[in-house]
Amino acid sequence: MEPLNYLGGYPPDVQARVRELIAQDRLGALLTAKYRDAHTVRNDGQLYAYVQALKDRHMRKAPPLGKVLFDGKLQVLKHALGTHTTISRVQGGRLKASREIRIASVFRDAPADFLKMIVVHELAHMKEAEHNKAFYQLCTHMAPDYHQLEFDLRLYLTHMDVARRTASGTHLDGASHTTAQGFTT
Ligand SMILES: [Zn+2]
Repeated sequence: MEPLNYLGGYPPDVQARVRELIAQDRLGALLTAKYRDAHTVRNDGQLYAYVQALKDRHMRKAPPLGKVLFDGKLQVLKHALGTHTTISRVQGGRLKASREIRIASVFRDAPADFLKMIVVHELAHMKEAEHNKAFYQLCTHMAPDYHQLEFDLRLYLTHMDVARRTASGTHLDGASHTTAQGFTT
């Protein structure tokens, strides 16, 4: 059985239910019905403005944003849904932390709620490096339905993988990589 790469942390009964939806070819339609709204963030400049607006609303005291960009090479799973790097540089004689936020390009065409979810996730990392309780409190402060959105995003990414596999008729897209669970996919 194929591992559900994006749902590895969820209980077996949840995974079984998702497999059932995939087998019945219903997962895509369910997600489309629930997440109808697209967003209009098309490029890095618009993404920066989008992130800045959310930051202004919820995290004004956090350090200023560094670079914000879409990254076509970013593997969502490998980087635990996004990536956040702290680059320390000497500025005026003291170390200043600059935050760079890279968002996987798959979110450019994803529903609006999923872009919001991933940006909330990355913004929360400006204050909390780990996925701990304080981190998720920040996430739900910015997006009250954060946990549902993250789960549904994992369903969406699972659906995209299945669709790609089906379309190409091969196993994934021909690329071979090893997942965190040690499965070669
Ligand atoms: Zn994270």
